[in-house]
Amino acid sequence: MEYDKVWKKYSQAELKKLEKINAEYIDFLSNGKTERECVDEIVNMAEAEGYVELEKLIASGKKLKIGDKVYSVWMNKSVVMFKIGKKPFSEGINILGAHIDSPRMDVKQNPLYEKDDFAILDTHYYGGIKKYQYVALPLAIHGVVVKTDGTTVEINVGEDPDDPVFFVSDLLIHLAQEQMEKKASKVVEGEDLDIIVGNKPIVFGNDVKAKDKKDEKEPVKKAILQILKDQYGFEEKDFLSAELEVVPAGRAREAGFDRSMILSYGQDDRVCAYTSLRAMLDLPTCDRTVCTILVDKEEIGSVGATGMRSKFFENAVAEVMNLCGEYKSELDLKRALARSCMLSSDVSAAVDPNYESAFEKKNASFLGGGVVFNKFTGSRGKSGSNDANAEYIAAIRKVYDDAKISYQFAELGRVDLGGGGTIAYILALYGMNVIDCGVAVLNMHSPWEATSKADVYETYKGYIAFCKGMDL
Ligand code: MN
Ligand code: MN
Repeated sequence: MEYDKVWKKYSQAELKKLEKINAEYIDFLSNGKTERECVDEIVNMAEAEGYVELEKLIASGKKLKIGDKVYSVWMNKSVVMFKIGKKPFSEGINILGAHIDSPRMDVKQNPLYEKDDFAILDTHYYGGIKKYQYVALPLAIHGVVVKTDGTTVEINVGEDPDDPVFFVSDLLIHLAQEQMEKKASKVVEGEDLDIIVGNKPIVFGNDVKAKDKKDEKEPVKKAILQILKDQYGFEEKDFLSAELEVVPAGRAREAGFDRSMILSYGQDDRVCAYTSLRAMLDLPTCDRTVCTILVDKEEIGSVGATGMRSKFFENAVAEVMNLCGEYKSELDLKRALARSCMLSSDVSAAVDPNYESAFEKKNASFLGGGVVFNKFTGSRGKSGSNDANAEYIAAIRKVYDDAKISYQFAELGRVDLGGGGTIAYILALYGMNVIDCGVAVLNMHSPWEATSKADVYETYKGYIAFCKGMDL
């Protein structure tokens, strides 16, 4: 199939818009490296556009009307937004859904130890990573430490140029003969992804007696604990109730001499989260109510109270319908959801010029080729996927063609080479139409993933066209 060349179609004015959106996207990526940070960014942007918190509306008893904008945050890690349309919920709503969690290393609950004069934090990786990619690169620690008195300490160390960074050590090549013979999955093992956080023993003033100094056990660990106490106000046992995520340090960057791409941590799936959010904020009042879900825990199976399988989304729809005076019984909710249409906004694998054989190029997506649709994902014969309906795909093609959106249809690599999943199948449980639709990514799940600015822009425009035009 001949796809139109996306970059070639833009006017100068459009290129300016494309750069503006991508500059904002780079900031979004750089400021939101955890689910919680993303939710903060999203809420700030939404409130600036007049979105009001659902819980406040419920408390005030205020009813919702056409054009009203509402959001609801669940446990600081997932968020759902609504813009009330002209048609009743009973005729269905249009939904965009992306995830805001990304693969990383999480600090364990009992993490801190001393070995060979280093203070080290033990981690447990989150999501699918090639573990060898996480050694010998600058890392930042983001997250929260919640203390038993209910206070929360927010941690963000390693992003400011003046901040220290952290790292996982790697064996020098000179002594790596045995290591280099191992399988890639065993070169660096999960239990060895431990972060070096210090190397200086605790220093005492002259008022401490010499014999006490000599007796000090684990002096480097003690020094780190002293810093955590003085600078952040928490103690070793507070790690038990902490959520600390270790991520590659540094801002998202433009890539290529032509600055055509973006290289950043966490583009799976913040590229779709950002484009969905931007589309949602820029939308006029549509015929159908529009909803955007930006959700946690996709990378580990959409589990937990903040994952897509949680009821928080369904509950929020019920509450919003109620405030619109459209919730008489659960049947109203069921009907509304069954008649809805969704774009499960997630990334797809772009053809990699170094690993072409992993793809079947007639059915693969290319960086700079426009929005990617995946009719299905899954593995071993489409297992575990949402296989979108042909009628729905035809309706979407019409909407995208009319809006002159560039798009490509792809599978996630060659048959039987592997596979992956998204949140699509969960929304499909309501009986609604769902298809995976997002951005092609190179180096997916690596510390630095690459996307095309043209795809970011095209996806943003595609989401707007879908919300405005989809009515099936
Ligand atoms: Mn994803
Ligand atoms: Mn992923």
